[in-house]
Amino acid sequence: MLEIHALEKRFDQTEVLKNIDLKVREGELVFVIGPSGSGKSTMLRCCNRLEEPTSGAIMIDGERITDIPRRDLDKMRLKVGMVFQGFHLYPHMSVLKNVMLAQVKALGRSKPEAEARALEMLDQVGLKHKAHAKPSELSGGQQQRVAIARAVALDPKVMLFDEPTSALDPELVGSVLKVMKELREKGMTMLVVSHEMAFAREAADRVVFMDGGYVIEQGPPEEIFGNPQSERLKTFLSRVS
Ligand code: ADP
Ligand code: MG
Repeated sequence: MLEIHALEKRFDQTEVLKNIDLKVREGELVFVIGPSGSGKSTMLRCCNRLEEPTSGAIMIDGERITDIPRRDLDKMRLKVGMVFQGFHLYPHMSVLKNVMLAQVKALGRSKPEAEARALEMLDQVGLKHKAHAKPSELSGGQQQRVAIARAVALDPKVMLFDEPTSALDPELVGSVLKVMKELREKGMTMLVVSHEMAFAREAADRVVFMDGGYVIEQGPPEEIFGNPQSERLKTFLSRVS
């Protein structure tokens, strides 16, 4: 569903991504771990062309998205849902309107259609009862679940998560991870950057370790956590656990 081939990214003189190869098959949850500054966010942002790759190719659902002209990016971006550390909800709109807006503006759904889909998604993330609340009346964990509902309501082919729980108080993290796990069980294809190692062990099909702009190791969670090969990964795991 998502295939990254020989991806390189340079900012001026700095090489931030070096020959990245990565595949996420349909329905897989692939986890990306690695120290701060290793290029995880830049890699995710290349997957919907929020960053322009310097070279290499990215395929999503059979389409080579690195070849799409800039003026045609909007349509491609609908295929790629993204959830960040911050929730970026519209503060003056209700939760329901937040989840409806892009469905109407970007997908051209009718309002009743968008509302039905929004309520279905809010129900899925356990927040149907908050449909008419404002984002400021919700906890951080609830706001992040609304952000996930909003992204998934657009029926993306793949969901990208960049440290979705890093800004949350510890007691709110579990509810967001639970929603992510349920999404996976429904068959969503997901690429997740996160430091939640226990979640990776439990829910990831594959774990990718990045350091210094390279993919150093990748494999099933049992291998990556139980039998790390490289010194860099061993050092990283000893620091985070
Ligand atoms: P991570 O998400 O793993 O912490 P990032 O992808 O955010 O890493 O950053 C990787 C490297 O790229 C860092 O050294 C960072 O300073 C650099 N970088 C990221 N964005 C930019 C930018 N817009 N301009 C210049 N350097 C950048
Ligand atoms: Mg980052």
